[in-house]
Parts: sequence; C-alpha cells; structure tokens
Amino acid sequence: MANGSENGRLNGNLRVLIVEDNPSDAELEIAELRRGGFNVASDLAQTRDEVSDHLAKNVYEVILADYNLPYFRGMETLDILREKGLSIPLILVTGALKSVTAVECVKQVATDYVLKENLTRLSVSVRRALEEARLRVERKRAQDELARKVDELARSNEDLEQFAYVASHDLQEPLRMVAAYTQLLAERYRGKLDDNADKYIGYAVEGAVRMQALIEDVLAFSRVGRNGHEHQATDCDSAVDEAIKNLTAAVQESGVTVTRSPLPILVADQVHLVHLFQNLIGNAIKFRGREPPVVKISAEKNGSEWLFTVADNGIGIAPEHKEFIFKIFQRLHTRSEYSGNGIGLAICRKIVEQHGGRIWVDSEAGQGSTFRFTLAAGPADKELGHETDTRDLISR
Ligand code: ADP
Repeated sequence: MANGSENGRLNGNLRVLIVEDNPSDAELEIAELRRGGFNVASDLAQTRDEVSDHLAKNVYEVILADYNLPYFRGMETLDILREKGLSIPLILVTGALKSVTAVECVKQVATDYVLKENLTRLSVSVRRALEEARLRVERKRAQDELARKVDELARSNEDLEQFAYVASHDLQEPLRMVAAYTQLLAERYRGKLDDNADKYIGYAVEGAVRMQALIEDVLAFSRVGRNGHEHQATDCDSAVDEAIKNLTAAVQESGVTVTRSPLPILVADQVHLVHLFQNLIGNAIKFRGREPPVVKISAEKNGSEWLFTVADNGIGIAPEHKEFIFKIFQRLHTRSEYSGNGIGLAICRKIVEQHGGRIWVDSEAGQGSTFRFTLAAGPADKELGHETDTRDLISR
C-alpha cells in the first residue's frame, strides 16, 4: 500500500479524499490541483460515516476538508484518522474561518489551511504536505531501525555476558582439580624425578594458578552487569575511604599520598563505586614512577553531572593507548614488569557506563595519568567541606 501511494506521488498521481458538502467547491479544488500538475483521482464525503467508509476502502495521499459541513465538522476527520491509526496529511479548505480558529486547527495537527477565495495556494500546500509526510515516514523508518539495532545490541551483550558468566563459573571446578593435583604432584615428587620433570610440573602449577586468576577476573567482570546493587545515596568520600582501606597494604608499602577535594553524595551503587575508586587508586600506586607516588582526587559539578578526576604522577600512558587500556585483558606491560590481568579498567568502564557516565584518560608517557569520569548528580548536594589528606585515614 505504501509503495502504491509512493509510486503515485512520483508520477504526479494524487488520490485525494475531499470532505465537502458543496460539489462545485470540490470541482474547483480538483481543477486547481490539476492546474498545479497533479493527476487527480478523488472521492467526495459529506458525513462521518462516508469519511470512515472511504478511508476503510481506499488509500489517500491527502485529505482536503471543509471546516463546517451541515452534519459534520471537517476537523473531526482527524479523530477518525487517529482511530484507524492512519497518518494522512489533512488540509483545511474553507471559506469562513477566523484566523484564530485556523491557527487552532493547524495546532491540532491539520497540516495547513487554504482559504477558498485563495485556492491558487492549494497545490503548493499539497506539495508541502506530501513532502512532510514523506519525511515523517523516513524519520519513523530510521527510528525503527535504530530501535531494532539497540535491541539487537542489548540482546547480544546479554548473551555474551551470560556466556562469560557460565563459562567462567563452570570452568572453575575442573580447574580447581587441575590446580590441586598439579600442586600435589609438585609437593610429592619435587626432586624425585629428573630436573626437567620438576620444571614442567612448575610450569603446570603456574599455568593453573594464572588461569584461576583469569577466570576469577572474568567472573568479576560479568558480575558487574549481573549483580547490580540497589542504587542509594552514596557519599563518594566514604567510598574513597573504603577503597583506600581495602588497599592498605599497597598504600603502606608505597608511601603514597592521596589528597582529595570534597566529594559529593550521589545516587549510585555503593559497592561498585568503591570498586571503581579502588581500581583507579590501585593502578596509580602500581604504575608509579621514580618519585614518591601522589594521587589527587577531585570532583566538580558540570550541569547535571559530576566530573571526577583521579590524577597521579606515575609512568603515564602514551596517547595512542588511551582507548586500548579500557578493553578487557588489554595491558601495556608484561606480567614480570607489573602484576595484573588487564581487567581493572574494563571493570571501571562498565561501572561508570552502568551509571550513565563516561570514563577516559588524559596522559603522556612519563607525565603521570589523569583519569576522568562522569556520574549523574544526585537530587541534592551535600555541603562540601575541606581538602583531605588520606594519610590521616590510614593511620587512624
Ligand atoms: P592491569 O592493572 O591488570 O594491567 P588495568 O585494566 O587496570 O589492568 O589497566 C590496563 C593497563 O592500563 C595497565 O596494564 C597499564 O598499562 C595501564 N594503566 C592503567 N592505569 C594506569 C596508571 N595509573 N598509570 C599508567 N598506566 C596505567
């Protein structure tokens, strides 16, 4: 049907329903459209039933409706269109209409109005209505396509997450057996076989332990999507305190100084926010340079969101790796240089995105790194106090 009417439009064919009680006025309208280059086929309707009947049987590109008919008001055609789920442009063609009423009608989604004493405007008005209808259909098509793609993506993400969860969860058990028995082999037979055997058993134990760590990380990553906690008022200062406490060993061993400007209260997943700060501060400590490590955390309000900054004076990241490091299992160093599996920043990104925010890094190799992320502002802000030096917290 849509194709038929589209082809018609391209050929200059125009199927029009005229809602009009005066046949000679209808004739004038048809003549005007023909003069304007349309090859017109028309039906005439005078009552609600006739309009309804024609709309049920035919496909129209445009409706021309008089405002006042003896038994019917042309604008009521809009109700019929709505009931039938049709979106056909309707142009009021009328003799007696105060401009206020006309504007009201157009506001009520009549496409346009044309005065009977100025019918020369009719073809222009119809052409514009057809063009608008075409654009509407195109826009709707694009929106539907976008919605379908978003749906598809969400489903495929869900499938992937489910796969990662099931695979890593189910792999844990057999892997525990491999790890336990290779460790047993190492303990019982070290020095009793030849040197090569000791070396090979050592490799097997190391591989099993690494694989366990990797699987734990995949599970942790997929849990961020699956085990969301209730979003509640979360004081980011407390989240940072908690993160630093969880990092006590690294904080003490590195002698890091963590300073922070006052942080806001947000409606967020508290457990995940602790995790987010912990990963970023932990990395700042791990990837420290020659200088004693310093981490500066701050937040500033930017319209409806907060922009957080976690800046360090560590080894920095070359600009070409700025995107890469947020991908799962991607890292810039070997395990012998720095421990880790490359999952921390992927988890950070997932947490931030689940809160509707973005995360990125600004850095140059050797110049320290500044991680930034946004989170939606809470309904109310707390009174922000003074800058804190977190060494106090650890010694507390
Ligand atoms: P991991 O720490 O296990 O390597 P991450 O996903 O946390 O995994 O980080 C990925 C990579 O990003 C790291 O291997 C490191 O190269 C780089 N990186 C992350 N944080 C920093 C930082 N603060 N300074 C310098 N490099 C960093």
